[in-house]
Amino acid sequence: VSRIAVLTSGGDSPGMNAAIRAVVRTGNYYGLEVYGIMRGYQGLLEDDIYRMDNRSVANIIQRGGTILKTARCKEFRTPEGRKKAYDNLKARNIDGLVIIGGDGSFRGAVEFSREFDIACIGLAGTIDKDIQGTDFTIGFDTAVNTAVQAIDKIRDTMDAHDRIFIIEVMGRDAGYIALHSGIATGAENILIPEQKTDIEALVASLQEKERRKKLVNLIVVAEGDEFGGANEVARVIKERMPQAEARVAILGHIQRGGAPTCLDRLIASRMGYHAVECLIQGRRNVFVGIMNNKMNYVPLEKVGKKKGTINEEWMKIVKILAS
Ligand code: ATP
Repeated sequence: VSRIAVLTSGGDSPGMNAAIRAVVRTGNYYGLEVYGIMRGYQGLLEDDIYRMDNRSVANIIQRGGTILKTARCKEFRTPEGRKKAYDNLKARNIDGLVIIGGDGSFRGAVEFSREFDIACIGLAGTIDKDIQGTDFTIGFDTAVNTAVQAIDKIRDTMDAHDRIFIIEVMGRDAGYIALHSGIATGAENILIPEQKTDIEALVASLQEKERRKKLVNLIVVAEGDEFGGANEVARVIKERMPQAEARVAILGHIQRGGAPTCLDRLIASRMGYHAVECLIQGRRNVFVGIMNNKMNYVPLEKVGKKKGTINEEWMKIVKILAS
């Protein structure tokens, strides 16, 4: 490869900027021409592509969001759309593409590389951590630390008033944010999409704690928990325990923003560097993850959502430590 481009796609996540910076600076270090594509595949279709030098990524390593912006793009799902995208790359002789996004973005890249001669490299940029082939995804550590800070604050007021608090964190398909932030804040219960929510057992445990005069109870719920999120859980608790003060807080999009943590900046920098190394070494259509602190390369078409990896032992720890 001699000319490469980078884009961010799907939901944004803190640390994407650090990854863009790493791709741009590594590419320039090796004498490649590096281009940035605005708004993911949408900008690729619309030819919103510009040259990036080292200065264009100055002072962004600490910023949340993505300077390249991100989008979802229906047209890229069609062969005609992808043809347009290819023509725009071809016109600039760009033959390597780094895609920072989630598994949907990788599926798009797989289609694209099947049809056209473009080497695609995927980096996991998602706060959900639910991507196979990597222990870390760019943004998870920041999101979970934001959730922990917010829950700590709510816990102070909860404690002052003897309340049950039901806090909803992000995670439509994955419970990692809920599980990690819940254990780190001493939650009594953690409800995640990967496990059936036994609401009767939950109410029974709250009633038992009430009898023991343990009135402060923190329940962390992933938005995609099969019971339907924090409001639904609160409704049932209030039905069964009308005397209890149960409040809901939905943390929402604050979890996506903010300055990336040291860990997210570090893994984004390593992954971005290795993405360019891959292109230079002639690797095509691979995903660059980190496992057991080593780079892990997986064919892009084999990378999907991580499923069912929630550790039973962790749930046992939650139960024991909250008693
Ligand atoms: P997040 O995990 O944050 O949702 P994602 O990368 O999974 O990120 P998606 O919306 O699923 O987000 O995908 C991003 C974009 O990738 C889509 O808008 C579309 O342009 C492209 N894409 C997804 N799946 C395909 C596919 N099967 N074929 C072609 N393009 C696709």
